[in-house]
Amino acid sequence: MVSDIFLEIFDRLPRQGPGKNECTKKAFTMLSGLPARPHIIDIGCGSGMQTLLLAELSGGKVDALDLYRIFLEDLNERAIKKGISDKIRTCVGSMTDLPYERKSFDLIWAEGSIYIMGFKEGLSYWKQFLKKGGYICVTEINWLTDQPSEKALSYWNNYPEVAMKTVEENKETISELGLDCIDTFVLPESAWWDDYYNPLEIRLGEMKKKYPENADFTEFSEEIYAEMEVYKECSADYGYVFYIMKKKE
Ligand code: SAH
Repeated sequence: MVSDIFLEIFDRLPRQGPGKNECTKKAFTMLSGLPARPHIIDIGCGSGMQTLLLAELSGGKVDALDLYRIFLEDLNERAIKKGISDKIRTCVGSMTDLPYERKSFDLIWAEGSIYIMGFKEGLSYWKQFLKKGGYICVTEINWLTDQPSEKALSYWNNYPEVAMKTVEENKETISELGLDCIDTFVLPESAWWDDYYNPLEIRLGEMKKKYPENADFTEFSEEIYAEMEVYKECSADYGYVFYIMKKKE
């Protein structure tokens, strides 16, 4: 479990990881043959910018799961404001132990969260919850070149839990797991800044006034600033990639 200060940094932000409504929509429109009212799960939904859009686009019901209640409270409030709270059901739980029956979903969605389990581990565990012919769409951070800069390499190699792969490596994993990779696309840089890094930077500025001497806050904010600096310089080396996949049987 993470500290309260960490959660306060991310609470009531537009989203908790890189992403963009335009990209959510682009991926969703690639799915053909979904039922009229698909049953969807959004894993690691955070405050649910993409959950709300999925509920609107799909005409179905979305189960939205996250480990932290505060993000789900935010999502519930947003859903009420939009008048679509009947389409979204939030659940506090872990992606590593999903509280659903096997073969429950037409579509599994996970933006910016599969890295927590690992791309391979996440897909191989989650796919049992898909119905036959169901889709699974995730975003994952990947190297976009075979020769990333020293700066990007040394920064990301310090985070072994992320263990960044190339798109080709992930495509091999997808096929090893018996899934079809229908398409992939790289999210634009604006997906990192507009609804994620920019609001996060403003939040860190505000919290600095509230916690000028707090060691936890100082450490977290330095880590986040360092990550942003690396992205500013090395955005050609790595990025978030949307994977649109289908379960054959
Ligand atoms: N999908 C959202 C949030 C991405 S950030 C977006 O794109 O904005 C990753 C999310 O995963 C956070 O909301 C975090 O609380 C959640 N998370 C972390 N560990 C988790 C776990 N074990 N199970 C479920 N969610 C988890």
